[in-house]
Order: sequence, then C-alpha cells, then structure tokens
Amino acid sequence: MNICIIGAGYVGLTTAAVLAELGHEVHCIDHDEQKIRLLNDGKIPFYEPGLEELITKNSNYLTFSGRWDYIKRASVIVICVGTPPRPDGSTDLRYIEAVLDRLAATVESYKTIVTKSTVPPGTNEWMRAELIGKGTAPHLFRIVSNPEFLREGSAVYDMFHPDKIVVGLEPDDDRSLAVIQGMYAGINAPYVTTSLTGAELIKYAANAFLAMKISFINEMARICDAFAVDVNDIAHGIGLDPRISPHFLQAGLGYGGSCFPKDIKALEHAARSRQVEPHLLKAVQTVNTTQLDLCLQKLHEQLAPLAGKKIAVLGIAFKPNTDDTRFSPAEALIRRLSESGCTVAAYDPKATLSEPLTRVTQVQSVHEAIQGADGLVIATDWDEFRTLDWGQVKAAMNGTLVFDGRNCLDRHAVEQSGLRYMGVGRP
Ligand code: NAD
Repeated sequence: MNICIIGAGYVGLTTAAVLAELGHEVHCIDHDEQKIRLLNDGKIPFYEPGLEELITKNSNYLTFSGRWDYIKRASVIVICVGTPPRPDGSTDLRYIEAVLDRLAATVESYKTIVTKSTVPPGTNEWMRAELIGKGTAPHLFRIVSNPEFLREGSAVYDMFHPDKIVVGLEPDDDRSLAVIQGMYAGINAPYVTTSLTGAELIKYAANAFLAMKISFINEMARICDAFAVDVNDIAHGIGLDPRISPHFLQAGLGYGGSCFPKDIKALEHAARSRQVEPHLLKAVQTVNTTQLDLCLQKLHEQLAPLAGKKIAVLGIAFKPNTDDTRFSPAEALIRRLSESGCTVAAYDPKATLSEPLTRVTQVQSVHEAIQGADGLVIATDWDEFRTLDWGQVKAAMNGTLVFDGRNCLDRHAVEQSGLRYMGVGRP
C-alpha cells in the first residue's frame, strides 16, 4: 500500500517504520522543518530503542518531507499529530484541525483516513463532518479510529506485538476494516471492531485503568507506611491473582508522561460535558498529585532542613528507556527540591532537563552526581541504577540517605553498605 503518516513524533515515526518494514511504501509528513532535516540526514529526533535501526533498514520505502502533495498518491492517511491538554483539562485539537484543512485542500480521490492520535469521544465523527463542511465530497473518504497503545521505551516491539488492534468504523462502512487488515498484514493480534466513539473510549478507558492501578498501589503504600508493612509484599501478594495481575503495581512518585495525565483529565472533562460525575477519575488524580508532596515530606523528615542540602537525583525522564520528560514526576521532584533550597545534581542516561532550574546542574554520570551528596534519590527506574556498587556510592557521598522513589532497589544490598534505605511504603 501507499501510506501517508502525518506527524513524525513517537507514534508517527514508529508507525511509519513498522509499516515500511511490513512492506508498504510510506511517506511521513511533519510541519517541523528541523525534524524533517534530521530525518533526511538519517537521524531520529528522540531516543527510542531500535527505531533508528528500523528506519535505516527501510530507507528505500520510507521518506520524509513537509509536502502535502504526497497525500494525493496515498490510499491510506494515518493521523499521528499531538493532542495536548488545555489548562481546563479539555483537549486542544488545533493540530487535528490544521490537518483537516490540508486534507480538505488536497484530497481528490478515495482515501481511508485513520486517526491514531488519542482524541476525545465524538472527535472522529466531528472530523468527518468538518471535512464535509470544508468541501470534501463524502464519497471520497472514510474515517477510521485506530487508537495506538504502544509504550515509549518499547514502542517498536509493541507495534509489532500489540495485544489487540482496535478499529472504530462509521456505521455503514463495509470496506475500511479490510483496508486496516491489509495495512497490518503480518502482525498477529485480535481485532476489536466497534464504532468510532467506541474506539476512542477504549483508548481512554485503558489509560484510566492503568493510572488507577498506579494510584491504587500508591494509596496502599501510604497505608503500608502507617502499619509498618512493605507495599512490595502487598503488590506481590495481590498480583498473583490473575484477575489483578502483577503489572502496574509498583508504588513510587506517581504516573507522568505525555499520555496518562492528559488522557485522564480529558476523560474527566468528556464525562462532565455529558453531566456524568467522574468520582473515580478525580480520586486517581488526587492520589497522583499528592504523591510528590508525600515524598518531599519524607525527604524533609530525614534531612531537615532541606535548604542548603546537596541532593543527587538519578533519573529525569518520566520512565526508563526514553528521553521523554513531558510531565515527568522525576523532573517535577527536581523542581520542588530546587524550590526548597537544595542544590541538585541530576543525571539521566538519555533525558535532558527541559528548562534551566536554580541550583540544579545536570551531570554526565552517576559518579559525578553522588560526589559529596547529602542524599540520593532514585527518580526513574533505569536498569543501571538498580545495580550500582553501593559501597562506592557510600564512599562518594557525604550523607547516608538513599530514597528509592521507584521501589526498584534491593534494600538489603543498599543497607549492607552502611547506607540508610527509604522507599515508598517500605518502612
Ligand atoms: P509528538 O509530539 O511526539 O509528535 C507529534 C508530531 O506531530 C510532531 O512531530 C509535530 O511536529 C507533528 N505535527 C503537529 N501538527 C502537525 C501538522 N498540522 N502537520 C504535520 N505535522 C504536525 O506526539 P506523540 O507522542 O507521537 O503523540 C501523538 C498522538 O498519539 C497523541 O494524540 C498522543 O496522545 C497519542 N499517543 C501517544 C503515545 C506515546 O507513548 N507517545 C502512545 C499512544 C498514543
């Protein structure tokens, strides 16, 4: 197939590379000229394991530009532009609107228009009406909702091995499912077909459920602290029940990233727009936004006063194996420490601080970060932090506190070297 991807971000580039690998001719359009230049130089604008290699391997079938006339050649158009949050929690659809303007001006022959961006319930139906309103003849296109479930850090693997492919169709659309099946031919996964709005809501429900698991275990961690019980024992104990499963039961600094915070807010906003009070979604967010306060309070209790202390923070990205810092709890913690008067040496294997902060320096190694530190915080659970030589860490630090903000360390290994271990819900 000849496929046009719009938006060369985490989702768009991964989709483009995987579809090229599956044998399609893929052109990727982005309005960010610098991004396109980088891609045409054989580089990718962010860190995602395996993606650069896959793009290089398929460079004969994968092209990049800012030129919309490529749309004319494609039979399938996949929209992967960003859908950021507005201050009131609703979704800013300006990038989707800009794409619709371009499509209305360009589409002359039949296209299957696939929305991969995460959009609020009702958006795909609205997109169809907008395109018609802008003058595109209804018989020239079908809209399909095909939300994406990949995880940054394992995006390439996830796209080759999805647990499902969700396809939302217009009620009288009897041809687009076969188009989507042709596009993904070679990927083995069950298809879930539903309405356009049904597909949109499956995506939000999935993210809301995962965020709920994280807030649940973070609330359990608070209760565990009060009863002197290790929350990791609770997570292990309940996770063995297949109805619960062990995934997403790691207490810590809370969820972040470019999806969970915005998608939970967007779902809350969508519910309210139809007079549904989203009690659970509100609670999930309250636990998450207060989780950092509790972690800072713990650090304060151990190191008071925080002002003037030197803290080494390991991790800036919102999770391991990515350089993405959008809504990163690690970066939020660094900001809060700086506001408390601490001097912070922050290290991350891939991510960079998104803004300069007072008394905060980003350093190039763990070794540099921990020199003379009064306390050490694990803020992102990169593998390389789990296996540190704690004897060497003790020798380099000034103080002895290790705060495991991701509950990812072997506490005995830390304590054996004479350091003090503090986790989240691990008294
Ligand atoms: P991103 O910000 O990394 O990429 C979006 C890209 O779209 C950017 O390169 C931007 O320049 C481009 N763009 C925006 N408007 C454009 C326009 N009018 N024309 C051409 N290019 C345009 O975003 P992302 O993380 O890839 O997310 C994209 C969508 O996928 C969002 O709706 C997001 O919620 C959803 N999603 C993201 C993930 C994830 O893990 N990142 C997972 C599932 C779904």
